[in-house]
Amino acid sequence: MIRRLDLRTDPTAELPRAQQDVEHALHVVGPLCDDVRARGEEAVLEYGERFDGVRPASLRVAPEYLEKALADLDPAIRAGLEESIARLRTTCEAELEQTVVTTVAPGATVERRIVPMQRVGLYVPGGLAPLVSTVVMNTVPAQVAGVGSIALTSPPQAEFDGLPHPTILAACALLGIDEVYAAGGAQALALLAYGSVATGGSVQPVDLVTGPGNIYVAAAKRYLQGTVAIDSEAGPTEIAVIADDTADPAFVAADLISQSEHDPMAASVLVTPSDALADAVTAELERQVPTATHQARISTSLAGPQSAIVLVADLDQAVDVANAYAAEHLEIQTAEAAGVAARIVNAGAIFVGAWTPVSLGDYAAGSNHVLPTAGCACHSSGLSVRAFCKNVHVVTYTEAALREVGHHVEVLANAEDLPSHGAAVGIRTGRTR
Ligand code: NAD
Repeated sequence: MIRRLDLRTDPTAELPRAQQDVEHALHVVGPLCDDVRARGEEAVLEYGERFDGVRPASLRVAPEYLEKALADLDPAIRAGLEESIARLRTTCEAELEQTVVTTVAPGATVERRIVPMQRVGLYVPGGLAPLVSTVVMNTVPAQVAGVGSIALTSPPQAEFDGLPHPTILAACALLGIDEVYAAGGAQALALLAYGSVATGGSVQPVDLVTGPGNIYVAAAKRYLQGTVAIDSEAGPTEIAVIADDTADPAFVAADLISQSEHDPMAASVLVTPSDALADAVTAELERQVPTATHQARISTSLAGPQSAIVLVADLDQAVDVANAYAAEHLEIQTAEAAGVAARIVNAGAIFVGAWTPVSLGDYAAGSNHVLPTAGCACHSSGLSVRAFCKNVHVVTYTEAALREVGHHVEVLANAEDLPSHGAAVGIRTGRTR
C-alpha cells in the first residue's frame, strides 16, 4: 500500500520523489509549444484532439454557453463557490500591498508603486477532475489586484462537445470572466504566452500565466518562463503530514488519501517519530482506500516511489525532513502544532492542527490552493494577489538632492570604468563640461 523509509537507521536515505520529473516532461512540451508558436490555433486544436479526444468547434467559448452554465448551476454548488470567493477575497484585499514613498534625503524620494499586470492567462485543470475551485483561486487574486484583461483556459471535454466542463464555465460567469478558451495542457499555455495574432488568430498574448496542472502544465510553465511571467510550477499535488502519537490516524489517512485522489503521480508522505502511529495510519489506509471512489488512482499514488511513511527519531528531525522536502501542502498534527509550524521555512502552505485539513484549503479556507510542487517551495510562493502585481520604483530628486550625492555617483562610476555614467551627473552639477 505505502512503503516505509526509516531515517533513524539510514539518515541519508533519499526523500520520496516522483520518478517522472518536470525536466523529463520538458522534452515533450518544448516542441509542442514551439509548434503552437509557429502554427497558432490550428496546432492547439490538433493537440486537443490528440490528448483530450475532442476538437472543439471553436477555441473561444461563446458567451451563451457561459450564461447557460450559470443559469443551470446547482444552487448548492453556487453557494459553495460564493463562500469560497468571499473568504479568498477577504484575504486578498488584506494582503494587497500599498504604495510606499520613502524620503531618502531632503528632496530625494523613492516611491515603490504597485502596478497590476495588464493582461493575464489563468489555467484551470480538467484532465482527471474539473477543478472548478481553481477558477476561484486564480481569478479572485487577479481581480483584487486590478488586472484589466483576464483570459482563462481549461481542457475541452468530449462529453460536453469540446467545451470545458459546465461547472467551470458557470464559475467563470459567476466571476465575470468572459474570455474563456477550450484548450488544455502545454498547448493552452503556449497559446496564451505567444498569442495567435501573428499566426492569423485572435488571441492576444498575456504577460503572466498562473494556475496548477499536471506534469505537462508544470513543464510548459518552465519552458515559457521568460516569454511570460509565471506564478510557480504548480504540478502534481503533494501532501506531507508531520504527526506524533497525539494524531488521529483516521484523520491522517483521510488527508493522505484526499490528495492522492488528484493524480496517480500525486505524492503523500507521512513523517512521524511514532511506530505506533505509522502502523495505525497504514491500517486506516487499508480500511479507507477500498471505499474511495477513485481507489485505482489513489492506490497508484500511495504505492508509488513518491509516497512513503518516513520514520524519524523525533520532531526535530521531522522538521528537518519537512524543510528539506518542501511540500506543497504540509499538515502539522502534533502536540504544540503551532510551535512546530513556526519552525517550517519550506512549504507551499502549512495546515496547523487536527481541525485544519488540506481539503479545507482546497476549497474554502481563505488561503490559495495554487501552490509550488516538486521542492519548488524552497524558492517559490503560492499564488496570491502579489503574483498579479509588479513593483515599479519611481525616483524623484531635486537639484539640491542630486548635488548632495552626485560626487559619490561619479566616484563609483569611475571605479567601474564607466566615466560616462559619472559625466551624466557631472554635466548637471557642474563638475563635467
Ligand atoms: P490538466 O488540465 O492539468 O492536464 C490535462 C492536459 O494534459 C490535457 O488537456 C492534455 O493537453 C495534457 N496532456 C495529457 N497527456 C499528455 C501527454 N502525454 N503529452 C502532453 N500533454 C498531455 O489536468 P489533470 O491531468 O487532471 O491534472 C491536474 C493536476 O493538477 C493534477 O496533477 C493535480 O494534482 C494538479 N493540481 C495541482 C495544484 C497545485 O497547486 N500544485 C492544485 C490543484 C491541482
